[in-house]
Amino acid sequence: MSTLITTNHNRDIVGLTYIYPVLSRRAGGLSIGINFNTNNACNWRCIYCQVPDLTIGAAPEIDFQLLEKELRFFLAIVLHGDFYQRFQVPEHQQVIKDIAISGNGEPTSVKDFAEAIELIGRVATEFGVLPTSNYVLITNGSLVHQPKVQEGLKVLQTYGGEVWFKFDSATDEGLALINNTRQSCQTHLKNLLLASQCCPTKLQTCLVDYDGNGLSEKENSAFLQLLTAIKAENAGVQQVMLYTIARPSLQPEASLLAPLSVEVLNEFADDIRQLGFDVSVSV
Ligand code: SF4
Repeated sequence: MSTLITTNHNRDIVGLTYIYPVLSRRAGGLSIGINFNTNNACNWRCIYCQVPDLTIGAAPEIDFQLLEKELRFFLAIVLHGDFYQRFQVPEHQQVIKDIAISGNGEPTSVKDFAEAIELIGRVATEFGVLPTSNYVLITNGSLVHQPKVQEGLKVLQTYGGEVWFKFDSATDEGLALINNTRQSCQTHLKNLLLASQCCPTKLQTCLVDYDGNGLSEKENSAFLQLLTAIKAENAGVQQVMLYTIARPSLQPEASLLAPLSVEVLNEFADDIRQLGFDVSVSV
């Protein structure tokens, strides 16, 4: 018997290839995670990344038969089987809050991205999980310029889904330092706007204290300028989710990283609210 807790992000806990459950105390229920990046490959290397043995690359081709079989099996044991009892899930948390495509790497790098979004949406709808629960894509957003990714986002939108788009820094140096990407802030902004044209999009921003520097004045004001530009575009991006590291990074920079204090996050959140955004803070 295992217990499924918020800090237990072991993606093998139910022994499936693509599906892993996470019990989220904050969300108040079960999140069904879907991992396309079974090879632990990502096109970015964020210094706070918690993927074990992260490599640079793309997700492998999906075995659609297996994905469908696992999703049907898992939804059946959650909805009609003994899943909650087996993992000792408290009664008030016995609800599927969301289906989250959140992998050990960048999910949009998978070849048949739109087909995968469609398959998951169709099966979850058949089981009655959608549209009641949320359907979320957690992405670093770096591949949204690709037509196949935009196509997938449009499919996600038809299922009432949403995109959580990573935007950790509004400077080119910050993106290079935190995400180890050469993508410029301008290009990243373009991808964000493209994403929001295809599907409702929220920003998710991980702020860390790197080498004791806290949240620098430069990063702070660049981010507020970025958000002002997003507002001016009338892009429909309405929500910003701020968070900091809760678990140790598995990257070489781990010893240089510390979480930002809740006070700093809250102060920053207030500044962002002044610009007309909804902001959530999680620590
Ligand atoms: S985008 Fe996500 S999976 Fe990729 S390196 Fe960053 S945190 Fe890790």
